[in-house]
Parts: sequence; C-alpha cells; structure tokens
Amino acid sequence: MNLFDAHCHLQDARLAPHLDDAMERAAQAGVTGLMCCGSREQDWPLLQDLTRRFPGVQLSFGLHPWYSGSRNEGWLDTLKTFLEDTSSAVGEIGLDHALDKATFADQETVLLAQIHLANELHRPVTFHCRQAWGRLLELLDETGWPAHGFALHSYSGSVDLVQPLIRRGAFFSFSGAITFEQNRKGRDAVAAVPLDCLLIETDAPDLPPFLPPGAGCLRDLNGKVINEPTHLTEVLKTVAQIKSIPELELAKTTVSNAHSLWQ
Ligand SMILES: [Zn+2]
Repeated sequence: MNLFDAHCHLQDARLAPHLDDAMERAAQAGVTGLMCCGSREQDWPLLQDLTRRFPGVQLSFGLHPWYSGSRNEGWLDTLKTFLEDTSSAVGEIGLDHALDKATFADQETVLLAQIHLANELHRPVTFHCRQAWGRLLELLDETGWPAHGFALHSYSGSVDLVQPLIRRGAFFSFSGAITFEQNRKGRDAVAAVPLDCLLIETDAPDLPPFLPPGAGCLRDLNGKVINEPTHLTEVLKTVAQIKSIPELELAKTTVSNAHSLWQ
C-alpha cells in the first residue's frame, strides 16, 4: 500500500535529528510520497537537500502568516528564485485570525502577492486558514482563486463550506486532528468531502494523531510527541472508517488526488 502525506515539515529542527530513521519508518508504512512545506524564509534553503536525500519528497515554498510580519525586504524575489529553480508548489500561505487583529491587513497583502506569483509560475497552492474561512472566501472571490489548483491543509472549516469550496476547486487535506473522537466538526467535514477531492496529511512534526497506547513515538525533552510521517496510517484508518471504505481504496484515491494536484 502506498500513501501520500499531503503536508509536512521535514526541515523542522524537531524532526531533523531523527529524520533518517523517521523516513525509514515512513517507507515501511508505505508513505512513499510527501509534500514538504517550507513556511518561512529560513526554511527555504533547507528544502532542496531533502529531495536529494529522500526521493518521493516534493516541495512547496511559501511565507506562512505566522512569519509574514518578520519578512525581509526582497522576500518575494527570493521566493520566486526558489520556485524557479525547482518545479515546486507554493505554500503554506494563508490567513490566521487567531493572530493579532492588527496583522490582518498585512497578512492579506502577503497572501495575495504569493497567489499572484503562483499563477504567474503556473503552480498550485497550499492554504493555511484558521478562524478566517469567511474572509478567505470573500477576499479570493474578489481577487481570484489560485489558477492551478489548491489544497486546504488540515481543513478546519465547517461542513457548510465544503460545497462552496469545491466549486472554487479545493482539495481538502485532513490531519491527525480528525483522529480524536471529540472532533465532531472535523469528522463531519470528512464525511461531507467527496473522495475525488480528499487528501491526508500529518503536518509533522505538529498535530500528532491519537496514538494507540503503547505505540512507539518520538518525544521531545519535555515529553511532547513529535509527529512524523509514519503516523499518516492513523489518519488513513480514521478517514476510511468515517467514509466506510477499505483503507487500500482510500490510499489509492488520495495518492492519485495528490498526483493530480501536484503532478
Ligand atoms: Zn504546516
């Protein structure tokens, strides 16, 4: 069985010291394709090396709203250079309304500049959107959605937004957040998303799924779980249960969706 992790951050310093072993475990679990996102300027130079070390890793470069306030002058030219040097996608970029309200306008400027660049270079986009779904729809309905497809990473919007977002071309990527039974909203969204626009992800090293007692996992010095791509199997299992389809069928469908979005 082959799996595609539609969103992870392999360059993250929490994973880096464990990466060879983690990628070995991922391969054993069948995770043979991975979309690795560099979300801030200091990530970008680290990404290319990953594709050399691990075939199967694809890249996205972008400036995440958490880091857009501290961007360097010339960041957009730097981003363009990284995108032109590789056949990568753009992401993760977006809106985060859990941040200070004073940053909202600037977040939009940074987001729109990157969508423009993605369209100019004919690249798909990965969005991060937190507590800002209404505004994302309003803004992009006005200024234009990515022309070459887009994924909504760790989808956290409501069921009601699924159809409107499908009409705008969305792929919905679900993370370990939906493995927790109390996440009714996320599980309802999984049920509502048609198979042909569904992706699964780990967001490693963040968003660890519910892990069965005794499951081996990486931990940091404070005992906090460091998520890794092998745990994609937990997301697969939960989504397959919710959709009442065999895991193998879901694996094949999500791999083929990832390929159609990211080639
Ligand atoms: Zn992420």
